[in-house]
Amino acid sequence: MKFQSTSEWLSNAKSPLIVAGPCSAESEAQIMQVAETLSKAGNVQLLRAGVWKPRTRPNSFEGMGEKALPWLIKAEKEFGIPFIIEVANEEHVKAALYAGIRHVWIGARTTVNPFSVQEIADALKGSDIPVFVKNPLNPDLQLWVGAIERLNAAGIEKIVAIHRGFSTYEKRIYRNNPNWEIPIELKTEFPDLEIIVDPSHIGGNRAVLKEISQTALDLGFDGLMLETHPNPDEALSDPKQQIFLDEFQSFINNLEEKQPYFKDRIAKNKLEQLRKLIDEVDRGLLESLKHRQEIVAQIGDYKAEHGVTVFQLERWRKIITDRLSGAETQGVDIELVRSVWNEIHKASVRLQTDVVNRKLSE
Ligand code: PEP
Ligand code: MN
Repeated sequence: MKFQSTSEWLSNAKSPLIVAGPCSAESEAQIMQVAETLSKAGNVQLLRAGVWKPRTRPNSFEGMGEKALPWLIKAEKEFGIPFIIEVANEEHVKAALYAGIRHVWIGARTTVNPFSVQEIADALKGSDIPVFVKNPLNPDLQLWVGAIERLNAAGIEKIVAIHRGFSTYEKRIYRNNPNWEIPIELKTEFPDLEIIVDPSHIGGNRAVLKEISQTALDLGFDGLMLETHPNPDEALSDPKQQIFLDEFQSFINNLEEKQPYFKDRIAKNKLEQLRKLIDEVDRGLLESLKHRQEIVAQIGDYKAEHGVTVFQLERWRKIITDRLSGAETQGVDIELVRSVWNEIHKASVRLQTDVVNRKLSE
């Protein structure tokens, strides 16, 4: 596949590329305020705003629709930074192009569907509009690549991938798990494809945006897409994860660009990359331990209510036998697994004893 880099087609392109704006366009005043503030901040090259919002459940705010398009065009003219919006079908593409929008992105709920991606690719054919492609909701690299291939086959070379994390069933610290190895593999396979990271949708809450953004830069990704809103708590969509507009400039300035940027930093920074993967695995382990601990406490409640003793030798024998044979099948160090599960079991017995004693003294 052939890609043109942002420096070839975005007049104000810089490294890292910063795309920022509200989750959704809500009013003309909000759009004007965001565009004015971010143009003064000087570190944003593209403004984002959702006009049609793909919502998981019906009856949530579904975006202002077509009537928001002229607000974006007006702000773009007045403050000089172009807007990018999400399109999910041919109708959106037509409305966006007709209104004069020149940059679009494909959302995670659309990338999963090859029919929709093909429809968008066909609608964009010949328009020379840059397209940013979010990863699909599920951690499937081939589906992401497939979407990019469909656009490329329609003659679109101005493509940027957006890493926004992947859905998981369990509630985790992050809203969407980053699975950094997936965008890294994409970069390794297509070194000319620029990939930016969307910490807002990975993190799902303001408190974790800095660490995710820094990780993205440390790993050598090409930029960030961040949601920012004049008054996030009142936002009509994604209120928890948007940065306060008046804090945006300092948010970016506080990120460290540790080393001079170079395009193939991901490939060169193998050690840093592997360490980030270890950090992510450890975060997953901690989350699993927390999840396990919660279930252990529920079992403690049950035992207390039904007068069952905390320590059950038969159950423990079953657990350790099963975990050791799992270790053997999977090629994990047996002694490590034996000692880790001994500690886990001891901690569970301690926790349940506390739960039972508390219930008895109530
Ligand atoms: C968004 O960017 O507001 C959005 C809906 O994102 P995603 O497609 O990543 O869920
Ligand atoms: Mn959003």
